[in-house]
Amino acid sequence: MSDKPLIAITGASSGIGEATAKAFANAGYPLLLMARRVDRMQALGLPDAVIAEVDVRDRAAIAAAVAKGEAAYGPVDLMFANAGVAHLADIARQPPEEWDAMIDINTKGVMNTVHAVMAGMIARRRGTLVMMSSIAGRKVYPDHTVYCGTKFFVHAVSESLRDYLSDYDVRVQVISPGVIETEVLSGVKDEKTLADYQANKAKMGGGIGPEHVAQLILSTYEMPQAALVQEIVLTPTRQK
Ligand code: NDP
Repeated sequence: MSDKPLIAITGASSGIGEATAKAFANAGYPLLLMARRVDRMQALGLPDAVIAEVDVRDRAAIAAAVAKGEAAYGPVDLMFANAGVAHLADIARQPPEEWDAMIDINTKGVMNTVHAVMAGMIARRRGTLVMMSSIAGRKVYPDHTVYCGTKFFVHAVSESLRDYLSDYDVRVQVISPGVIETEVLSGVKDEKTLADYQANKAKMGGGIGPEHVAQLILSTYEMPQAALVQEIVLTPTRQK
């Protein structure tokens, strides 16, 4: 069994979460993997992994998963609040149910995730929170209205948390990727928005593989606890 601390990841069933799980597994860390699609997490076949069916809208389910992971491998030392959905659309045509989903998953889901580990990290005076924002959490795009709102929320909350938790030696890092090749566009139902996004992506020569985001999370996590890379902004070179 690994003697390294437990790494917890929400949205570990695909994309950036999956790539991050693989990177930490390769580096010998035990994992707590959370998402709704359990079959996808099981199919990764990673060693030393507790797999939990979790919807981040369900605060009790996250707390139960953390308790299960910690019973197996000790305290969560890194929580990657990664799970999110991107229902990009023209705001005037967008069904309000899509706002509900983005607000519930990308904002309240992130808070539920942080809540499940924060008190433990404060008590231990160590730990790392990695918060998934986006380049859309730093600048706005017209067909990303509510998505941008949720990612600006993550940015603001991360900065406030960093202020608060630094006194307890807990690190808070925010990640702001540009276009990364994942399944994230499966949430885009608005055909014009999807076509515009794809055209823009083609102009920049395509997105970046999620393994590059994962590598940055691993390497910055492995810096001494007293050193914090506060923000990672990773985009395709040609992304505006
Ligand atoms: P994917 O669609 O590949 O991954 C999204 C992950 O979130 C899945 O594992 C999904 O798992 C999980 N998820 C979605 N809803 C829930 C929920 N209610 N409860 C638990 N898990 C949930 O896309 P990415 O890897 O790209 O997305 C990961 C994060 O990165 C998101 O927050 C996204 O906004 C952000 N991001 C992505 C960028 C990109 O270009 N790809 C750029 C900037 C930020 P499941 O469905 O099994 O529950």
